[in-house]
Amino acid sequence: MDLPLPTELISFRNEVRAFLEANLTSELRGAAANATSVFIDPDVSLPWQRVLNQRGWAAPDWPAEFGGPGWNEMQRYVFAAECARAGAPNLAPMGLKMVAPVIMHYGTPEQRAYYLPRILSGEDYWCQGFSEPGAGSDLAALQLRAVRDGDDYILNGSKIWTTHAHFANRMFALVRTSTEGKPQAGISFLLLDMGGAGITVEPIHTLAGDHELNQVFFDDVRVPQANRLGAENDGWSVAKHLLTFERGGKYAPGLIDRLERLRMRNAVDPVLRARVDREAVTLTALQALELKAMRGEGGSTTIYASALKILGTEAAQRIDILACEIDGYIAWVDADGQTPADLAVTVPRYLNARAASIYAGSNEIQRDLVARELLG
Ligand SMILES: Cc1cc2nc3c(=O)[nH]c(=O)nc-3n(C[C@H](O)[C@H](O)[C@H](O)COP(=O)(O)OP(=O)(O)OC[C@H]3O[C@@H](n4cnc5c(N)ncnc54)[C@H](O)[C@@H]3O)c2cc1C
Repeated sequence: MDLPLPTELISFRNEVRAFLEANLTSELRGAAANATSVFIDPDVSLPWQRVLNQRGWAAPDWPAEFGGPGWNEMQRYVFAAECARAGAPNLAPMGLKMVAPVIMHYGTPEQRAYYLPRILSGEDYWCQGFSEPGAGSDLAALQLRAVRDGDDYILNGSKIWTTHAHFANRMFALVRTSTEGKPQAGISFLLLDMGGAGITVEPIHTLAGDHELNQVFFDDVRVPQANRLGAENDGWSVAKHLLTFERGGKYAPGLIDRLERLRMRNAVDPVLRARVDREAVTLTALQALELKAMRGEGGSTTIYASALKILGTEAAQRIDILACEIDGYIAWVDADGQTPADLAVTVPRYLNARAASIYAGSNEIQRDLVARELLG
């Protein structure tokens, strides 16, 4: 399904399409098609990131001064839609989309010069250390303690649900530097080296049977104060800025592509076919809303970030259920022996995506944020 585009964007779309056609290998496409999570392992995502980086397209959202392509919003949307259509692997968001914008905004010139090129090239692979066993939705309750000692902080405590911590060489973390006043007022934002002495990463295996989550333990870990982003005890402002990037988004292009692939499975059951059509309508509406958000029409960035997160993740979960039902139906009525291979991806993907309405701030919390902003 092509986006209706003004003529000036058609040549841009064709340029992107030709590049993807020439550079996206069948191995990369195959690995992306068989991925059971939106978080694709770095042995797949990093080679693709390097190819994009050589063309200057690894970070579509970055301003040109930091190494982005300098595209406007609509070009970025077209690029995302074409990548989804071509079946390109997702790039890990923790570096490119989450910590990079806050380094641009809050970083010193030295921090920007050091970290940003390493994020772009994939030399550094980041994980996000926000949640703790006692702090998820209530993030301000976090306890991982950072105590000053000379030019360093000494960290003790633990982070949990840390996606890809077992691959990452860097973590951006919220730590407690003060217990005075409101909990939000005693938090700082650190950029730390995962190879530091005293850090232990323990796997958490998910319902889908994969290993993408971890618990990370800190035992007298030294982190230079120079690795703090923003002022001491002002980490909450940095985190709030970051979370709008984590939530916002372009869900529709990937989902439209998935739905089209489901349609092509040609399940003959009329009820299933009608449900595919109905999802196509909701995705068209979602896409219209994403385009509106992109143009800054009709609502604040915070409302859009939360609303699109709710609508995008819930549509994704409905499509996962539909995919299981369609593959199950085909497995049941077809005797060609092919369908179990599809189910081997569809079912773990469905299980994995149960988490999409929890991570990046649960959807209940997002509804609360929208209500507060709209109703006061
Ligand atoms: C797959 C996955 C990957 C993740 N990756 C990361 C990561 O890389 N880094 C990281 O820091 N964290 C990560 N997280 C953690 C994630 O941010 C938290 O799970 C999330 O914020 C919810 O916190 P919690 O799990 O402590 O649940 P809780 O906060 O205990 O919530 C439990 C339930 O209660 C509801 N609830 C809680 N408070 C309210 C309220 N005030 N009003 C209404 N309902 C409420 C929630 O919506 C939820 O349904 C990940 C989580 C998952 C599942």
